[in-house]
Amino acid sequence: MSKGPPFFISIKYAYIQRKCDIAHACAKNIAAFLAKHRNGVYLSPHRPPGGMRVAARVSAKAGDLRTDIPFPSSIMIKQIALILATLILTCSSSAAAPSWDIPQKVSQGRAFEVRITDTSPFRGNILWNGSSYPVPSSPYGGVHEARILLAMPIDAAKPMRAAADLSSGGLAASVTPLPVDWPRQILSVAPKYVSPPKKVLKRIERDRKLSREAIGTVTERGYWELPLHRPVPGTVSSVFGGRRVFNGQPRSPHLGTDLRGQAGTPVEAVASGTVVAASELYFSGNTIYIDHGQGVISMYCHLSSIGVRKGEFVGRGQVIGKVGATVRVTGPHLHSALYVGRIPVDILPLFEPVPSPVGGPSKEQPRN
Ligand SMILES: [Zn+2]
Repeated sequence: MSKGPPFFISIKYAYIQRKCDIAHACAKNIAAFLAKHRNGVYLSPHRPPGGMRVAARVSAKAGDLRTDIPFPSSIMIKQIALILATLILTCSSSAAAPSWDIPQKVSQGRAFEVRITDTSPFRGNILWNGSSYPVPSSPYGGVHEARILLAMPIDAAKPMRAAADLSSGGLAASVTPLPVDWPRQILSVAPKYVSPPKKVLKRIERDRKLSREAIGTVTERGYWELPLHRPVPGTVSSVFGGRRVFNGQPRSPHLGTDLRGQAGTPVEAVASGTVVAASELYFSGNTIYIDHGQGVISMYCHLSSIGVRKGEFVGRGQVIGKVGATVRVTGPHLHSALYVGRIPVDILPLFEPVPSPVGGPSKEQPRN
């Protein structure tokens, strides 16, 4: 047996596409791969019917201290590869590899949580809908995890690709949108809010810019947690996604949920975060935007008063303002909205103890 410098083996990520037993041939293949390449992505060549396929990023290099398994010869490489390959297969999800829980199907206009876990700390980005979101991991229950909220656009028609580019490996998945039969809503409001007079057009443009910037905020640390806190106790008076007709004219869909509340009812933050805008807007009246991190932004409209300032950090459940009936509304209520990666989503399912990525249009049973 030749004695060279000590080698250490490290398997950076691995995943199993099918549950099965490992054949010794596969361990030998990994050993042969390591002897030839020293590191890289090993992909098992066979996938027998009902059988297995192993994919692993493997490396064997001098002085790599990721694992404490020194081996001096190719015979040892074979033995260690066999042990590690067996390990990968017997504890597929707890192997040193990132894995994620991501739904395969999501209804239009719904947010869904993605949880990534690994045995060691990781960082990187999630790519979704043309944007990138940072996902630093933190220790949780013996593993390291990162959670992120993503959203299916209200008009999504084709499967969308999600990818994770992480320090410990890569992940990819396809998420299929489920169509929702959005309701039609016919409403009457003051004419100036359907066809605004010329003199306010500049103001409306300014408001739009403010909203775009608020909704487009992406900060690294996520403060949101599911379920979200209900901002007012009142029931739903108008659901998310309704195709709206104002005074006989079709307008953009209802991109929030209206919750009943007497004027003056305290409005509470759905999650902790930083106030990114708090001002009076032409269409939505007194409005607050809160950044909850990772592209998750909540919005509160038609307030009779605003109790926070831009830049202020607020806690989950903290009172931020009061219910009102400012501008384009038919009576006092809270227009409660959530944007996830700039995508407006139905906030109502996120108040449920276990939010579902599938369903809609939202309905809520009347409560006492
Ligand atoms: Zn509304």
